[in-house]
Amino acid sequence: MDFIDLKSQQALIREQLDRRIAAVLDHGRYIMGPEVAELEERLADYVGAKHCIGASSGTDTLLIAMMALGVGPGDEVITVPYTWISTAEMIALLGAKPVFVDIDPETWNMDPGLLEAAITDKTKAIMPVGIYGQTADMTAINEIAARNGGLPVIEDAAQSFGATHHGEKSCSLSLVGSTSFFPSKPLGGYGDGGALFTDDDELAGAMRQNRVHGQAKKHHHPILGINGRLDTLQAAVVLAKLDLFDGEVVKRQEVAAVYDSKLGGSGVALPRVAVGNTSVYAQYTVLSDDRDALSASLKEAGVPSVSYYAVPLHLQPVFGYLGHSAGDFPVTEKIASQGLSLPMNPYLSEAEVSQVCAAFA
Ligand SMILES: *Cc1c(COP(=O)(O)O)cnc(C)c1O
Repeated sequence: MDFIDLKSQQALIREQLDRRIAAVLDHGRYIMGPEVAELEERLADYVGAKHCIGASSGTDTLLIAMMALGVGPGDEVITVPYTWISTAEMIALLGAKPVFVDIDPETWNMDPGLLEAAITDKTKAIMPVGIYGQTADMTAINEIAARNGGLPVIEDAAQSFGATHHGEKSCSLSLVGSTSFFPSKPLGGYGDGGALFTDDDELAGAMRQNRVHGQAKKHHHPILGINGRLDTLQAAVVLAKLDLFDGEVVKRQEVAAVYDSKLGGSGVALPRVAVGNTSVYAQYTVLSDDRDALSASLKEAGVPSVSYYAVPLHLQPVFGYLGHSAGDFPVTEKIASQGLSLPMNPYLSEAEVSQVCAAFA
């Protein structure tokens, strides 16, 4: 069984993919071709944001957003230590300091109860993550940001695109939303790509400018930027997949519901979705006191599993200069040591889901 199955999906839309890719080969506008604008329009509409800005990856989106907000040396950006490296990596790359706050024990996302204490007069932005497919408590985080001088909130929604928080879509929940089209993400392409969302006209303009070398008009560069564009071919691929997306989210939720009901008594802790949230289940992750033994017995039963973020960011060598040690973020460390992600994709058969559950017996 595949941990992530991209082949079944491709079989369903192979014709649309071929047609979309052929259209790009025919018109030949590989950079910022019409598919990029078409995708941006469709995604802005889907998310309910005024602007969508396609970009080269879900890492570059974070960089572009923070550049547009003027994050730099001497600044602090608050995020979580339980996430993919990009989130803190881009803060540090800009010369700012990643300031970690621990995660909530139920949702494994930023704990808003710990956020305010981490804010200083150097705080330039807050960057919560929607880990494993549900958003952080963006309502509480936005409130705290608002009463602390209107701090910008960037939602790293690489894993939560399509999820909702009190009926609103992830990526539309704060000043900026950022997502990724890495192939294994809920809305993945066939290579690197990402997108930014905002309702703010000025910020959208700045992010568009940062995406193309800080260019205001051709050969005129008032500010520094990067080469952060989304490829036309990648936009064409994501467009072909977009029609399937809502149905795939429902199927992921159905697989999760079966896991929920069948693994209840098996001695592992199950993932919880907060009241007011829906999850797109980028991952279905359980907690086990003896994760390595569980992973080994699953493997024996032919079931692949993955321990994501087993070494949390505050304990990664690259962030050693921040001076953290084990014990600093106890909830993160617990989830990092116990979390095991099970096969999750919309194309798992009933038999495969049963095989996973049977392996827990
Ligand atoms: C995947 C991911 C990213 C980076 O996205 P890329 O497109 O791979 O650069 C950033 N943040 C989180 C939480 C992710 O899961």
